[in-house]
Amino acid sequence: MSEVKKIAVIAGDGIGPEVVGEALKVLKKTEELFGYQFETEHGLFGGIAIDEKGTPLPQETLDLCKGADAVLLGAVGGPKWDNNSKELRPETGLLGIRKALGLFSNIRPATVFDCLKEASTLKPEVLEGTDLIVVRELTGGIYFGEKFRREGAFGEEAVDTCVYNVQEIERIVRQAFDIAMTRGKRLASVDKANVLETSRLWREVVNRIAPEYPEVELEHVLVDNCAMQLLRRPSSFDVIVTENMFGDILSDEAAMLTGSIGMLSSASLGEGSFGLYEPVHGSAPDIAGQGISNPIATILSVALMFRLTFGYHEAAAAIEAAVKEVLDAGHRTGDIAVDKSTAIGTTEMGDLIVAALRK
Ligand code: NAD
Repeated sequence: MSEVKKIAVIAGDGIGPEVVGEALKVLKKTEELFGYQFETEHGLFGGIAIDEKGTPLPQETLDLCKGADAVLLGAVGGPKWDNNSKELRPETGLLGIRKALGLFSNIRPATVFDCLKEASTLKPEVLEGTDLIVVRELTGGIYFGEKFRREGAFGEEAVDTCVYNVQEIERIVRQAFDIAMTRGKRLASVDKANVLETSRLWREVVNRIAPEYPEVELEHVLVDNCAMQLLRRPSSFDVIVTENMFGDILSDEAAMLTGSIGMLSSASLGEGSFGLYEPVHGSAPDIAGQGISNPIATILSVALMFRLTFGYHEAAAAIEAAVKEVLDAGHRTGDIAVDKSTAIGTTEMGDLIVAALRK
C-alpha cells in the first residue's frame, strides 16, 4: 500500500459539484486499481461560502488546503454574486487562495484528441500530434508592478511597470525544465528580449540554468513569433515557459487549439510538490443543475495532479487512455457532440471513463 495522500476537495458553484463528483469517482477507481490511498475532505469556497459563511474564502477552507498534499477545485462564481462588493465576490476568493497558498505558476496542457480534431477551428492536419504544456509565471510581471496615473506633457498618462527578479525567474524556469524532463524533453522559453529588459534578464537566467538539464533541448522564441507558430506548427512544441502576461495570452491561444473548454485541465503550483488542480472552465451557470456538463476537464485535472504532485505517472496515463477510449468509441457530452441529439450526460460520461480505466 502507498502512503495516504490528502486531497482538499472544493466543489464550488454551478457545475463545480457535478464535475468534481465524476472526478472523485475516477480517483476512487484508481485506489482500487493501483493500491493508492487518498483521504479527501471537502471545503466551502466561492459563492456557496459567501452564502453559508459570509466570505468567499473561509479560514477553515484555507487551513484545509494548507494541510493537504493537493487541492481539487471545481469552479466558482455565478450571476447570484455578480453585483456583490469586491470582497464578497467569488473571484476575490480565487485570487486570495492562490496568494495564500504561494502558487507562482500556472500549468495548462493543450492536448488535441484525434477524434476531436474537427472541433477545432484549425485544419486537422495542422493539429495532428499536438500535445503541449504552457507554464506561466503567475505572481510577478506587469500585472503586479506599480501602476499609476500622472500629468504628462500631453495631458493624462497611465503607467504600468513590469518587474522580475532573478529568484522569481529561476523558480519557474526550473519547474518548466523539470516538467520537460517528464515529457518530450523540449523547452521553448518565450520572451521579448529584443525590446524588454525584464526579458533580457529572463533569457540570461534560462541560459544559466539550462546546463543543469543537458537532456532538454532549449529554444528561445520571441512572443510574437510564438503566437504565430502556435497556429502554424503547434505540434512542434512540448513545454513552453513564459512570464505572466505573455503566458496569459498564449495559454488562451493554446487552449483554443483543442476546440472545447470542457476538455481543458490546469494546475497552479507552488514550492515543492503542492498544487491546486482545476478545470480551465468556469461554473457555467447557463447549464448548471441540468446534468449535461462535460466532466473531462476535471477528470484530466486529476491526471495532472497524479503526474505533477504525486508522481503517479502510470495512473495518470491510465486516466488519459480511458478518456481517449471513451471519446474514440464516439461518446460525447453536448459541448463536444456534433449531433446534439446523441449527447450523453455528466454522470454517464464519468461512468464510462471509470469503466474504461485499466491498469
Ligand atoms: P464558463 O467557462 O463558465 O462558461 C463558458 C461557456 O462554456 C458556457 O456556455 C458554458 O455552458 C460552457 N461550458 C463551460 N464549461 C463547460 C463544461 N464543463 N461542459 C459543458 N459546457 C461548458 O465561463 P463564463 O460563462 O464566462 O463564467 C461563468 C462564471 O464562472 C462566472 O461567474 C465567472 O466569473 C466564473 N469563472 C470561474 C472560473 C474559476 O472558477 N476558475 C473561471 C472562469 C470563470
